[in-house]
Amino acid sequence: METYKVILVGDVSVGKTNLLTQYVDGEFSEKDNSTIGIEFKNKIIELKNGRKIRLQIWDTCGQEKFMSITKNYFRGCSAALFVFDVTKKDTFNNLEKWLKLFNEFDDEKTTIKILIGNKNDLKPKNVNKEEIDKFTKDHFRKYFEISAKTNKENIVKMFDEIVGKLKEKENDNSINDNPINDNPINAYPINDYNFAIKKADNFGQINAQKNNQKNNLKNNLKSQKNNQKINLKNQKNNQKINLKNPRKKKNC
Ligand code: GDP
Ligand code: MG
Repeated sequence: METYKVILVGDVSVGKTNLLTQYVDGEFSEKDNSTIGIEFKNKIIELKNGRKIRLQIWDTCGQEKFMSITKNYFRGCSAALFVFDVTKKDTFNNLEKWLKLFNEFDDEKTTIKILIGNKNDLKPKNVNKEEIDKFTKDHFRKYFEISAKTNKENIVKMFDEIVGKLKEKENDNSINDNPINDNPINAYPINDYNFAIKKADNFGQINAQKNNQKNNLKNNLKSQKNNQKINLKNQKNNQKINLKNPRKKKNC
């Protein structure tokens, strides 16, 4: 199954995690729990032609102190969703900074970028339409205004459209398709591997693989040591035998 990596970017508290849990699990939480580090959820989508694809949606924490970790995940994304809170102007302004950082690390330059104004169930709205339109025109494929709290349908619709755009691009042959190998271990930059392991979902496989690798290494080392011991023993024995039975000189 093809896997498309999608990433959610934006300030703390704009609703990235709830957007994701609402879409994948149909859950919304009033609690303001900061995401620690980075995690992902998978969503399988059936296309009209019956084919299935997997969206691997990465949720980032939005805190400055984690930026150095977050930016590693910007590589190889098929789509990047830049989220702001429609009631908080600074979360909109800060997207410039996120976008700049993203563009630095987005090596393929073919990622489909989407702008999302979340919390449209709240009032007053503090970002004016002209600014949103201009920002969209300059940098994004499309703008969606949604509520992760009150309207799951609009999130589903939004993702359907994003998938449509992914497929459109694929037909152009220019998509950053980056079919991530089905093995989720490949989704992690090596340096953050341990960190990601602690935080991401679906880790049964990864832990099992890690343990296997460890065990293999241990077993290899053990058998190497044993072989060395046996060789040494054999050498010593041979020396003893040679000392006891010095070779007779043959007459040629
Ligand atoms: P994140 O830091 O961007 O992941 O934001 P969260 O998903 O943790 O949400 C931060 C806070 O905003 C939580 O208290 C959520 O309940 C609330 N929230 C998220 N989305 C919405 C929304 O669409 N409408 C409203 N009213 N609140 C929301
Ligand atoms: Mg979060």
